[in-house]
Amino acid sequence: MKLSEVKNSETVVITKVLGHGSFRKRISEMGFVKGKEVKVIKSAPFNGPFEFKIINYNISLRKSEADLIEVIPVQDFIKSENENYQGVIDRAIDLVNHSERTKIINIALVGNPNSGKTTLFNFISGSKERVGNYSGVTVDIKKATFTTKGYTFNFFDLPGTYSLTAYSKEEIFVREFIYEQTPDIVINVLDATNLERNLFLTTQLIDMDVRIVAALNMYDELEKKKLYFDKDELAKLLGIPFVPTISSKGIGLENLIEKVIEVFEGKDKISRHIHINYGKDLEDSIRIVREKIKENQPITDKISLRFLSIKLLEKDGQVSSLLSHYPNFEEIKKSTQKEIHKIETLENEESETIITNAKYSFITGALKETFRNPHHSEKTRSEKIDNVLTHPVLGFPIFTAILFLVFFVTFKVGAYPMDWIDMGVLAFGNFISGLMAEGMLKDLIVNGIISGAGSVLVFLPNILILFLFISLLEGTGYMARAAFIMDKIMHRFGLHGRSFIPMIMGFGCNVPAILATRSMRNKGDRILTMLIIPFMSCSARLPVYILIISAFFDKYQPLYLIGIYAVGIVFAFITAQILNKTLFKNKETPFVMELPTYRLPTLRNVLYHMWDKTQHYLRKIGTIILIGVVIVWALEYFPRETKNTGVLKREIQLTEQNTAINSVEKGNYILQLNTQLESDRLTNSYLGRFGKLIEPVMRPLGFDWKMSIALVAGLPAKEIVISTMGVLYQTNEDENSVNLQQKLKNEKFETGKRQGQLVFTSPTALAFLIFILIYFPCIGVVVAIKNESESWKWAIFAVFYTTSLAWIAAFLVYNIGNLIV
Ligand code: GDP
Ligand code: MG
Repeated sequence: MKLSEVKNSETVVITKVLGHGSFRKRISEMGFVKGKEVKVIKSAPFNGPFEFKIINYNISLRKSEADLIEVIPVQDFIKSENENYQGVIDRAIDLVNHSERTKIINIALVGNPNSGKTTLFNFISGSKERVGNYSGVTVDIKKATFTTKGYTFNFFDLPGTYSLTAYSKEEIFVREFIYEQTPDIVINVLDATNLERNLFLTTQLIDMDVRIVAALNMYDELEKKKLYFDKDELAKLLGIPFVPTISSKGIGLENLIEKVIEVFEGKDKISRHIHINYGKDLEDSIRIVREKIKENQPITDKISLRFLSIKLLEKDGQVSSLLSHYPNFEEIKKSTQKEIHKIETLENEESETIITNAKYSFITGALKETFRNPHHSEKTRSEKIDNVLTHPVLGFPIFTAILFLVFFVTFKVGAYPMDWIDMGVLAFGNFISGLMAEGMLKDLIVNGIISGAGSVLVFLPNILILFLFISLLEGTGYMARAAFIMDKIMHRFGLHGRSFIPMIMGFGCNVPAILATRSMRNKGDRILTMLIIPFMSCSARLPVYILIISAFFDKYQPLYLIGIYAVGIVFAFITAQILNKTLFKNKETPFVMELPTYRLPTLRNVLYHMWDKTQHYLRKIGTIILIGVVIVWALEYFPRETKNTGVLKREIQLTEQNTAINSVEKGNYILQLNTQLESDRLTNSYLGRFGKLIEPVMRPLGFDWKMSIALVAGLPAKEIVISTMGVLYQTNEDENSVNLQQKLKNEKFETGKRQGQLVFTSPTALAFLIFILIYFPCIGVVVAIKNESESWKWAIFAVFYTTSLAWIAAFLVYNIGNLIV
């Protein structure tokens, strides 16, 4: 029977995992191996993915994936569980391999996601010295350096992984980090309440022959559960010293450091090199492959031969290419193939599965002696919470409410500090303006840099609040539940459940939304989500909508507004569908997602996380966004003179000297002349010329050159569209909106076929709205896409895709609209 057919709250035993390579690999590493019991908990709202409980943790799979797992009822399963458990083999190896006794200890933190690595790292580094982003790598990694007890410690917080196969970027990264940087000690952070799965990674570290100290984290929860656990016995068996830690409280970390020093100095009694005994057949094969590799010397002193052999037998492509330059690579390959064939026929399974099974048999065997959970079948606290939060009926409304709260606080409460910053930037600009003499430098600093940086800085409160919530949602474990709830709907469009939150965030500001895609593990899913976020209409576009809608649509104004947002969402989903069928056709995304235990995140973690993400945003202001803003400023600022400048200036001068008219009239006239001067200059500026240049392209949409310029000016940020229109359509600054509306209504074409006709008809207005919605996401977004996808390719793609789509959509709206009206 298939796992997907099992009823809720029934327990069954796994007999086989079907399906393609990477899925099977992933799922078996997560504990879905022959002989393990799985309990079906429930399915998500809207018949979404299933939740299962296996080896004492919860995981969600889609139905299509649960279809691939064959199970039988518990009573039908004949136990032969530990037939493979053979214990370990001691390896004779010189433990103190530090020829020169340096006092610098390089430490890598390795462990499952949510095992508490970052908490541990933050605690250790927080009270100590330097923490920095480890540059030059694509995956997020942090380094902290400090000196204590006469040693200098370099701590590296590596990304969380369940395993060290070449499944994800993180896994490859951790693996390469270990064999390229060769840390002196690997601290394996273990979630003590979930040892069975956590130890899987440990078995791979043992294969790599690295020196390990295990941090038995979450020890508080283990104690609370009153489980029987003989940690010293297990430590002895694995040859790894175990140090109980509660990293959220900083307990045990001192011991951990001391243990690291002991192991480093070779003084620890427990630390020893072992081989996990995988059983005679596998061991024979490993030995044969090992002998073949051994004929070459170069990399072997860095990477354990045993690890390489095991990986080759697991058909690991990365290790294969690592060895491909070996003179006897062909021989290695041949003998590996032979051995794979041998073990596969013997066990009638894929070799990767055989090795994973063997590892799990070992873990089960080792834990059998040392660990007992009498409360095994009781409901955990997390499950009780999930009875409500992911309830098939209640789950969705609760999720909506939480989302609403996040949204409300982020954008409503955030609006206050936003105003303050806005005013502050303005005041600062005025202040600087007062200090400086008129001229280009002043204009550059005040209107270019200060207002440009200000327009980015105003989003800072939003971003801080948003990331506060995201850290909370991630830290507590709710984020995975949100994905669980939304997956059914999102999957229809080829998206992942986790895409939902970033998309919603996009309504506020696309930039943090794109950063929020970091919670997604699969790169294809992430990039796809980033590419559709620009269709979520951000708050910067809202003022433009309001202006146009209130000017040209008397009735049903709110409906037009909602309609625009809806159009954006529809385009997002259509785009997702299209990209999924084309560019991301080969995106393989098994939905294997752990539903981690609910935990209260520490304040330190939340603040750290929040600040970390915000920093990314701030750093951008200093760089590319600012450059973009300055470029657009320059295009708008130059050239200064037109053929009318002289005439207008003279006119202003004459008016000022004229005593015949009263001062109010005079003031108004001068204002008018100044605006005319500005408008004339803007039209003649490079930006203006560019607007005129592209006017023929925009004409089929019913746009004139002024609208074209406004659109171009909106490239750095879409709010700028309005202020540019204000200048172009010559309105007084103070009565901006009312006046501008009126001016727009009266605006007539100056040239072309429609000369003398009104520019803005309702089809034009609609087409303009659609264009604003879809075209070029602001510079900030483009930069964010570039940074997060780590290539300009996707950023440029987004620019062209959105802009051409905007044109097509506006063209259709305009022409169809004209037919109707
Ligand atoms: P990472 O994914 O391995 O970096 O895990 P985190 O450091 O983000 O921790 C995941 C969650 O576990 C957070 O909510 C932490 O506050 C919590 N946590 C970390 N260590 C402990 C611990 O020792 N005891 C308890 N009860 N919670 C912890
Ligand atoms: Mg972490």
